[in-house]
Amino acid sequence: MNYQAVIGLEVHVQLKTDTKIFCGCSTRFGASPNSQTCPVCLGMPGALPVLNKKVVEFAIRAGLATNCRIAPRSVFARKNYFYPDLPKGYQISQFELPICQNGHLDIEVEGEAKRIGITRIHMEEDAGKLVHSDIPGLGSSSGVDLNRACTPLLEIVSEPDIRSADEAVAYLKKLHQIVVYLGICDGNMEEGSFRCDANVSVMPVGSTTFGTRTETKNVNSFRFVKQAIEYEIERQIELIEEGGKVVQETRLFDPNTGETRSMRGKEEAHDYRYFPDPDLVPLVISNDWVADVALSLPELPEARRTRYRSELGLSDYDAEVLTATREMAEFYEQTLEKAKQVAVGFNNKFQEYKKSNPSANLLDFGQHLFAKSAANWVMGEVTRALNEAGKSIAECPVTPPRLAELLALIEKGTISGKIAKTVFDEMWSSDKTPEAIVEEKGLVQVSDTGAIEKIIDEIMAANMGQVEEFRVGKEKVFGFFVGQVMRASKGKANPAVVNELLMKKLKGE
Ligand code: ADP
Ligand code: MG
Ligand code: ZN
Repeated sequence: MNYQAVIGLEVHVQLKTDTKIFCGCSTRFGASPNSQTCPVCLGMPGALPVLNKKVVEFAIRAGLATNCRIAPRSVFARKNYFYPDLPKGYQISQFELPICQNGHLDIEVEGEAKRIGITRIHMEEDAGKLVHSDIPGLGSSSGVDLNRACTPLLEIVSEPDIRSADEAVAYLKKLHQIVVYLGICDGNMEEGSFRCDANVSVMPVGSTTFGTRTETKNVNSFRFVKQAIEYEIERQIELIEEGGKVVQETRLFDPNTGETRSMRGKEEAHDYRYFPDPDLVPLVISNDWVADVALSLPELPEARRTRYRSELGLSDYDAEVLTATREMAEFYEQTLEKAKQVAVGFNNKFQEYKKSNPSANLLDFGQHLFAKSAANWVMGEVTRALNEAGKSIAECPVTPPRLAELLALIEKGTISGKIAKTVFDEMWSSDKTPEAIVEEKGLVQVSDTGAIEKIIDEIMAANMGQVEEFRVGKEKVFGFFVGQVMRASKGKANPAVVNELLMKKLKGE
């Protein structure tokens, strides 16, 4: 029999607020145990929670960016369970009335577009962390660090619309990119800022009744999500084929073996005895607030990609790479913004451009002139140099305006693209403008035909054998001559001029 997998994901997103969700303690990662706590997050009896407004704003952002409806009224609920990292004996979460509902994300897998429904997004607090270690004088023992208790989380729950591990990863990557773009999450999966519970079941192909699901908890990398889901699909199919039954349970993924294993039987909602938290009033959100948040949203990756293709004429691939992070997209846009200001210097080309684009102004033309070269430089040299130096784009020593100056020098023909790379390397380690570097190092491109002709004559005279070969039809040696001339000019000869003159002279014209 053939089987179809059904997958729904619950994603926990740790919010990047300075303080916790119900108290003023810091959320900074890595502080010494229990140094960022107060009576509220320690769960002292009688201490009262006060909702952090920033958390609500972040939840609204996430909801709007994932096409959800923002609830005008939502309610915090207590989820009761006992565990030593949860001093109150309950977690404050949302249950019946979450802040966001009925959203979706569109993904693409192997060229196929697909919509994944988002059931709900709710706000909740995180628990503390148990630390098991050897404590001097006490031997092997366990402690609890409550710094993480009460840090704000969003839980984003998808509909069971996902049908393969690849679709699950595409959905997760898209969601990850969005929350990072929104500036609400640092996206650090290793530190657990973005982690996923994968619900997986299988059913016979063609069936409309879903099978029993298992839930694999807290998987914290895209690769592990793929492995965990694939393992789980395989395991469930084998189990059913052998006449067994999948039991609803919570499982753990072991990154060392790539396998999942049973952790505990699945709790039902009633096990948690949810009820509205009497210490927190229902949360009422005005339309005005939602509208304000909507206005403050950054342009999201998908919209950016579409604009890069239609307005800037970039390829799908370029648009994808440049929008991968908000920092990269902004670096590119700032470069282009600055570069197009210098379009004034290209009046001839502008007049030419206006013939086919009569309504274009100088800035439109500038954008057209530099869109592709700026893209190539950001994706090429800039990315290469950043990778080599282990730097993020925010730390790039060559700023967008400086890069724009360099692009203008290439466009003007002052330097060749090849020399520009030398200039770029120099800019990387000094604060000088590209003009200053070009001048100082004497890198100005030679377009003077007289000077280039002279070099060509010398090279031809010294290589008469190859000249003969060319003339009897071995056109391959043309490349050899280009190389020789460029080398003799120390890379400064204008390649277009070299090609043209060389062709003439070799043909004996
Ligand atoms: P719980 O907290 O009990 O896990 P939630 O409603 O928070 O319940 O999440 C359930 C998740 O499981 C959702 O992402 C949903 O899409 C998914 N799901 C529900 N039924 C199935 C199924 N039969 N197979 C796979 N996933 C499922
Ligand atoms: Mg769950
Ligand atoms: Zn606190």
